[in-house]
Amino acid sequence: MRMEITLAKSLDRLKKIDAELQKLAHISALLSWDQETFMPDEAVGERAEQLALLEGIMHDRFTSSEAGELLGSLGVGKDTPTGSDDFNDNERAFLREFYRRYRRKTQLPRRLVTEMARQTAIARKEWAKARAESNFSIFAPHLDKILALTLEVAECLGYEDSPYDPLLDEYEPWMKTSKLEEIFRNFQEKLMELISRIVNSEKRIDTHFLMQEYDTNVQRDFSLHVLKTIGYDFSKGRLDVSAHPFTTTLGCSDVRLTTRYNRNYFNTGIFGTIHEGGHALYELGISAELQDTLLADGTSMGIHESQSRMWENIIGRSLPFWKHFFPGLKSRFPEALGDVDLVSFYRAINAVQPSLIRVEADEVTYNLHILLRFNLEKRLISGDLKVKDMPEAWNEECRSLLGIVPPNDADGVLQDIHWSMGSIGYFPTYSLGNLYSAQFFKALEQDLPDIDGSIEIGDFQEILKWLRQKIHSPGRVYPAGELCERVTGESLNPDYFMDYLENKYSDIYGI
Ligand code: MG
Repeated sequence: MRMEITLAKSLDRLKKIDAELQKLAHISALLSWDQETFMPDEAVGERAEQLALLEGIMHDRFTSSEAGELLGSLGVGKDTPTGSDDFNDNERAFLREFYRRYRRKTQLPRRLVTEMARQTAIARKEWAKARAESNFSIFAPHLDKILALTLEVAECLGYEDSPYDPLLDEYEPWMKTSKLEEIFRNFQEKLMELISRIVNSEKRIDTHFLMQEYDTNVQRDFSLHVLKTIGYDFSKGRLDVSAHPFTTTLGCSDVRLTTRYNRNYFNTGIFGTIHEGGHALYELGISAELQDTLLADGTSMGIHESQSRMWENIIGRSLPFWKHFFPGLKSRFPEALGDVDLVSFYRAINAVQPSLIRVEADEVTYNLHILLRFNLEKRLISGDLKVKDMPEAWNEECRSLLGIVPPNDADGVLQDIHWSMGSIGYFPTYSLGNLYSAQFFKALEQDLPDIDGSIEIGDFQEILKWLRQKIHSPGRVYPAGELCERVTGESLNPDYFMDYLENKYSDIYGI
């Protein structure tokens, strides 16, 4: 009895520490959101100091001796990451996640963490310069430093098979490099075969009307309309503009998103909006009982991306979706779309073409862009590839996977911001998101057989209810792999994604 009271007290205290950490994280997110949206340029130096101060406070609280002692008194350790059997599912998940973060934070020396923060702050700027000038040699010495620090991080965190594992684990907990390799092996060949059939088909899809003039204010109005219709609650969020679209959580009832509009290309704004809308619906759908705990979060980047990609591509690029939205779109853009019929529009927004830039890639070739990065990252981490040789290695991979070679480094090895931020190991989560999205959607269709009929009349309530119940509400209670099995009855299986692509594109391209 005495023991139980002590346990309950320790757990309570740990939850209080966590609740404060969550509040600090939300304050920090608010500062970052402001920085990306409305902050005046001159404020950047002070804002960086404010964010660094918060980061330091959070780090100290997380790694405090009190947190360590509480975990110890709860029986949480390397071999018992969820503590005593007496705890319920949510409590065990809470302890597992707290311990996971505690370990990662305490295993990294403060010097390494601050050095990484310093080097990435510099590298981000140098990367932007290198990309603007299309000159990799400007960025190379900075990437060298980041790589050295990243290798140190991997050593500090430890691994059994591959030093890439602890890096990947930061974004996709419990996923292994070898498992990812198996997944990619499984579908790379099928994917390349499908692309080759599409590229060699007779069908040429007209996309020129997507590149007419689209007034950005009207685009914004349409974006708001779509977000409202799919169930995003504007009393708990906002839509603004930023250079790179993102979604951020400032609290249980405050999940904001951004997009960007391109005046001369329709797809950028609306699909950016729907993508981020998918992320936001996930965060807003997390059960209120998890509020102010670290379980009130997406369970992995892959699962998070499954929600954004499902809304963006599987739903947002489907024919039933545009059966509902196209008339309203056409009336907003009579000049660009007056002569365009629904099916031509549907085909155009789904046109497949191997291209150089990942963020603009269609959903079929997209995963090859990820495979390219995954291959290069693994070689960098294993020491098989030197930073200075990356442009050449990039171009070679690009040729072998996509059949094209970038004319310059800006459109090649320098196109993504991730490496300058130290985010090595992040890219594969994009592909995992695609794979999970198709597998989840298949399960959804089995439960809701007339879902196309609902989408056609603009009724998204059932979809959202299903997603909330199955995927959103548990937050981080179940790790990605377990969640996938609970929702779909099996572990991650790339065949669902391939089936989805085969079905959709054999129709669009008549192959
Ligand atoms: Mg995303």
